[in-house]
Amino acid sequence: MTASTAVPATGFQALNRNDVQEIWRKDHDHFLHPWTHFDSFKKDGSLIMAAAEGAYVYDASGKRYLDGIGGLWCVNIGYGRREIAEAISRQALQLAYFNPFVDTTNIPAAELAAKLAELAPGSLNHVFFTCGGSTANDTAVRLIQYYQSRRGKRDKVHVICRRDGYHGSTYLTGSMSGKPADRSPNLHFITDFVHHVSSPNVYRRPEGMSEEAFCDQLVAELEAKILELGADKVAAFFAEPVLGAGGVIVPPKGYHQKTRELCRKLDVIYVSDEVVTGFGRLGHFFASKDVFGIEPDIIICAKGLTSGYQPLGACIYSDAIHEVISAPDPDGWFTNGYTYSGHPIACAAGLANIELMEREDLCGHVREVGPYLMQQLNTLRDLPIVGDVRGHHFMMCVENVADPATKELFPDEVNIGKRIADHCERLGLIVRPIGALNIISPPLVLTRAQVDELVGILRQSIEATMKDLK
Ligand code: PLP
Repeated sequence: MTASTAVPATGFQALNRNDVQEIWRKDHDHFLHPWTHFDSFKKDGSLIMAAAEGAYVYDASGKRYLDGIGGLWCVNIGYGRREIAEAISRQALQLAYFNPFVDTTNIPAAELAAKLAELAPGSLNHVFFTCGGSTANDTAVRLIQYYQSRRGKRDKVHVICRRDGYHGSTYLTGSMSGKPADRSPNLHFITDFVHHVSSPNVYRRPEGMSEEAFCDQLVAELEAKILELGADKVAAFFAEPVLGAGGVIVPPKGYHQKTRELCRKLDVIYVSDEVVTGFGRLGHFFASKDVFGIEPDIIICAKGLTSGYQPLGACIYSDAIHEVISAPDPDGWFTNGYTYSGHPIACAAGLANIELMEREDLCGHVREVGPYLMQQLNTLRDLPIVGDVRGHHFMMCVENVADPATKELFPDEVNIGKRIADHCERLGLIVRPIGALNIISPPLVLTRAQVDELVGILRQSIEATMKDLK
């Protein structure tokens, strides 16, 4: 049996039925969740996660699930790692908090900034810490606009992002995100300096077009957008190396090099949003250089930076930017920051996380097991609703379609991804449904045997869903 009532060695005791109901009700009545769909939430409420160990999570009643999504693309080192818990506890007792403003700091923040400078490619030697990925992207925009202004280019304020991109959920980063499903008609978005170009979705490229021609078309579109706005007005281009929440979209070959080159030529800052792709998910600490062969001006990271054990994000930027913004100027204040920038406990967790990743060579493990995960997921292509299996290493998805030959989607009301994910949940596996997709982004400690378990349950769930639809 896949689903189990065992509890992990962390000492968690399953709750009885009444206690589970009571938590369910408190949550249902009082906790407004991120990305709430009110109709379904009112009806179904929440699955209550209560404990975890390794690559498995346990709900409040003690049922075990293989965590196919690493919490939310973030629990890279797996659950229940004592080293991180101890680092957090030590730091909480030693110095839980002191403000990082102006000219005070703390030991873990200084140590972690230096470690990130060592890990990041080339001249990316400077770090601004934030509370997560959204605030890191938000900070990047302010930093870039500040930089452009300090070099006398005050009109260079526009930023270009991609449709299907996801950069966060502050007002600004929500506007930068171009995933159509996230742009509720009941919300407002910043449009005066935020722009979007096409998604580099190879699977959905125009019928009959080669990948190479598609790449050239995308690069030409970006160039046209920069020139239309005026190169003297465009500050930055933001790109995830592999688009995550927008559908695990690996851009066509050469896309990153060509867009990077274009940005250099037109004096546009290139930002690589590595919130998901960073910290081992693609087999390296940073994918920009080691997977895609580019050196951005700025790298954004969060999630895997602490493996989700503490909230923390970072905007890592180049010597060239630093030289400009830190040049002598009596009014040279960069007035941006958070109470919890460089939080000592979060930074201590980040340091312990990196140490553990290096000691256990988790990047090497991903490079070894990643191709096996891809190969096993590809075996699902014999199922008549599997249209595409794509991704890289531990960042994968399955796209489910009504007709793989035409790539026609199921009608929205079928809710195909959610139906499959619900069967997975019943059978003891968590995958993330996004529209027609099921996302797979497991903890990096996943073994080959756990890959087999994951793919086996996913196959059973797709088959069960096909039966439901007959
Ligand atoms: N950027 C990317 C690529 C992301 O996937 C996310 C979150 O999923 C964010 C930014 C936002 O990060 P956070 O939710 O930590 O604010």
